[in-house]
Amino acid sequence: MTIHSGRHFLQIPGPTNVPDRVLRAIDRPTIDHRGPEFPRLAFDVLEGLRAVFQTTGPVIVYPSSGTGAWEAALVNTLSPGDRVLAFDTGHFATLWRKMAEALGLAVTFIPSDWRHGVDPAAVEQYLQDDSAHTIAAVMAVHNETSTGVTSRIPAIRAAIDRAHHPALLLVDTISSLGSIDYRHEEWGIDVTVGGSQKGLMLPPGLAFNAVSSKALAAAERARLPKSYWAWSPIISANRQGFFPYTPATNMLCGLRESLAMLREEGLDAVFARHARHAEATRRAAAAWGLEIVALNPAEYSNSLTALFVPEGFDADALRTVILERFDMSLGTGLGLLKGRAFRIGHLGHFNDLMLCGTLCGVEMGLASLGIPHGDGVSSALAYLAGTAAHAKASAPV
Ligand SMILES: *Cc1c(COP(=O)(O)O)cnc(C)c1O
Repeated sequence: MTIHSGRHFLQIPGPTNVPDRVLRAIDRPTIDHRGPEFPRLAFDVLEGLRAVFQTTGPVIVYPSSGTGAWEAALVNTLSPGDRVLAFDTGHFATLWRKMAEALGLAVTFIPSDWRHGVDPAAVEQYLQDDSAHTIAAVMAVHNETSTGVTSRIPAIRAAIDRAHHPALLLVDTISSLGSIDYRHEEWGIDVTVGGSQKGLMLPPGLAFNAVSSKALAAAERARLPKSYWAWSPIISANRQGFFPYTPATNMLCGLRESLAMLREEGLDAVFARHARHAEATRRAAAAWGLEIVALNPAEYSNSLTALFVPEGFDADALRTVILERFDMSLGTGLGLLKGRAFRIGHLGHFNDLMLCGTLCGVEMGLASLGIPHGDGVSSALAYLAGTAAHAKASAPV
């Protein structure tokens, strides 16, 4: 094993770098989750989460990976055999669809090229054609982490409204929440699925459902089997500041800290920081001469960028050389993009110089493998330097 000194660069699009402040908040004696101190923590966290999801309704916290919160969204709102509409925007959309099928839902899966987001016109067409209202829910991944494409959720909401269709709108924001603007309530989302290990800057281990009143009403009728994931006992216990089972106490301490960091910086500043780093990354890609996967500028992701390597080169060989020589982890190509693309995560706890180091690592990797490329780093540096006066130099520590 190679010994590296200095910090490892964890630039996969999740899990992301965990700030020292959050690590210190987690590193404390576990408290009694039924004791008098606990409700303060629970109320702080639940209130802070509502601000990040931009909702006044309930947010359910699970000790689980994001995948668990996908399941919770489905089993709380739907019944066996219900028809749902989903879109093949990438690897995560595909996994969520498979879960829906495994749970006994009838999924209509709209094909796509993995280079575009959910097409609002297709949503409108399918719903308009469903005059009997057999479609119970529309499932969309806000930020497709396998492709670096962000779907236009407000346009999807508008499409559902134009079709005057009662379907629920279920949205996965696991890799956008806390990095890209997302408004559960204003955008009329019924269930928003989130996870701890991406924009929220925590280790993996917590997942969330933000829930609308329409989704709560659907939950009264939904007949898919559920027990651990059932919202209603959790919502009742949360009113008293408790959970029905042992929560991930120390992770909640970390979450309280990460929510405080987002509040201190301000969500608008957080989103602007990610937008600027994403633009710098795309400028680097353009100057390297590497094509990015996303085709529509209105759908470029601000939390990660997926880049193709030129024909005849292997994206995983590039990732391997960068890991071995420069101690940086980049995201692998998933599903259809295996070997053809790699992903640079620029979400979460991240600043200008971390991005510079990341882009330098990629450029040195390209040189190591003899992949022809232009001067991407200079192009990104010029953009970062030119816009630095308008941006805070770094995220708060
Ligand atoms: C990471 C991710 C998931 C999966 O989350 P896990 O915590 O690995 O279960 C699902 N959807 C999206 C968009 C993701 O980025």
